[in-house]
Formats: sequence, structure tokens, C-alpha cells
Amino acid sequence: MAEPRAFVTGFPISHSRSPIIHRYWLKQHALRGNYDAVPVEPKDFASFLDRVRKGEFVGGNVTIPHKEQAFAGVDWRDEAAEAIGAVNTLWMDGGKLCGGNTDAYGFAADLDQSAPGWDKARTALVIGAGGAARAIVHALMARGFADIRIANRTQARAEDLAAHFGGPVTAHRLEGAADLATDAGLVVNTTSVGMKGEDGAPLDVAHLPSSAIVSDIVYVPLQTPLLADARRRGLKTVNGLGMLLHQAVPGFERWFGVRPEVTPELRALIEADVAAAR
Ligand code: NAP
Repeated sequence: MAEPRAFVTGFPISHSRSPIIHRYWLKQHALRGNYDAVPVEPKDFASFLDRVRKGEFVGGNVTIPHKEQAFAGVDWRDEAAEAIGAVNTLWMDGGKLCGGNTDAYGFAADLDQSAPGWDKARTALVIGAGGAARAIVHALMARGFADIRIANRTQARAEDLAAHFGGPVTAHRLEGAADLATDAGLVVNTTSVGMKGEDGAPLDVAHLPSSAIVSDIVYVPLQTPLLADARRRGLKTVNGLGMLLHQAVPGFERWFGVRPEVTPELRALIEADVAAAR
């Protein structure tokens, strides 16, 4: 029998750390199988899904810009994918192409590991209203946050997101974010501000409560300007690497039959790769 083969697809995709993560687990568990980065242009994505349906792969991960096309193209979606409106994990089941979203799971699982008790906070400020923010808001709602404030540069996008999720989610301007943060137990940056090459933090942390946890889902660099500011103030910080690692767990288990662990060794491996890319 051919070796089970999984993939990560996006465009471009050469920057993806997913092959390092999944190959580490394949080796650690001495499993037969492969995990490759497969670049697919948006115009070719539908035919790529046909290749998955025909059994060329056991499944795989989907990233920018294909998460919405994957959502539309699968035969079945899990609850998280339905709520978030995007698919990042594909697998076959009973002849059906299935799509899930593990980003919310990855975010929450990482905070469970890195900042136990994080979900006792009831009020969260989410900066940004893009695709990743949807996953974060879904995770916060699933953990029972009672007040979720979204602040975004383009306020209309924050309003769309608040309307999509309803309940405890409200929309705000980015300029007012510092005021919204004064009683927030958790602040999450989901914008690309602070990524490699960009200066500045998206929020002034001066008025955050001293018990606040500050999370930045950007992981290049590992220490973003927001996290550096928060650390200087003595606040608990969580970088974006753990979310990346934990979101990979459910897919690996589906494709290769073993639930892998996010070990300190794996973290160190990806940290070194991120540091080398700077
Ligand atoms: P996206 O859909 O393109 O959304 C980008 C967000 O950033 C929007 O809210 C956008 O605001 C905001 N933004 C961009 N430039 C800005 C600026 N100069 N000032 C203020 N706001 C700005 O992207 P995404 O898919 O949500 O991803 C966002 C980030 O999350 C990326 O850095 C990505 O690498 C990271 N991420 C990490 C993980 C992980 O596993 N750790 C997973 C997913 C994503 P507007 O709406 O005003 O344009």
C-alpha cells in the first residue's frame, strides 16, 4: 500500500512551518507517511480538491488564500468551520470530503497549556477583524466569555463580525481600543501589525489591568512589539507559536491515527526556524 500522504496548500506556501511540525511527529511516532507543502494557485484549487477526493492524499491543511474556497468546496463541515466560515483541515470520511477548522481549538489549547485559568476572565478585547479574528471570537464564545470587544482599523469589518456572532460580541474603532482595554482580562492581537518588518504595537498597554493576559497570534517575530510592551509592564504574555502548533494536532490524528503532543522539543524546533528566518 502507498504511504499515507498529507499536505499543506496555500499560495505562496514555501514559508509554512507545517511540514516541519508534521514530519517531526511522523518521525517521533515512527509512522509511515509524508507531509508536503503543495503550492496551488486559486484558479486551480477546485481541481486540487478533486485530487484529494480521488485519494491522492489522506487529507491536509489549507491556508491563505484558500480557506474560504475550501469551506465552499467540501461535502461536510464541522461545527467550528460552520461558525468561523473557513476550513483549514481536510480529510476523507466514507467517500465524503470533510472540512474542519482547528484554529479556535489551537488558540484555546495553547492558552490552556501556557496560561492555565485564562478563560476565567469574562471580558476580552480582540484587535482585528480578519479571518483569524473569527476563529478567536469563536473560541472565546465557546469558553463562555461574556463581553467580547472587537476593535478594528476598518470598523465596518468589526461590525460584520459582531453581527455574524451576535450575543456578547460588540464592534469598535481601533482608536478607542486603549479605553476598551482598561477592564479586559484578556487582550488578543489578531492583526498583522507587529509582523516581521513592521514597527509598533496595535495597542498602548499602559492602562491594562495588572492581571490581564496579552496574547499575540503573530509568531514572526515570536516577541512582537505588543508582547514586548506587555512584558515590560509585567503582564502575562502568550505568543502565537503555540496556536500554530496546537492547531496541527487534530489533523495529524485524523490522517495518521495517533494524537500527537506539543512537546518542548517541537516548540524549540519551530522557534529556531522562526529565529533563522529573521
Ligand atoms: P486578514 O484576514 O488579512 O486580517 C488582517 C487584519 O489585520 C485585519 O483586521 C486588518 O484590518 C488588520 N490590519 C492589517 N494591517 C493593519 C495596520 N497597519 N493597522 C491596523 N490593522 C491592520 O489576516 P488573518 O488571516 O486574520 O491573519 C492575521 C494575522 O494572524 C497574520 O499575521 C497571521 O500570520 C496570523 N495568524 C496566526 C495564526 C497562528 O496559528 N498563530 C493563525 C492564523 C493567523 P482591516 O480590516 O482594517 O484591513
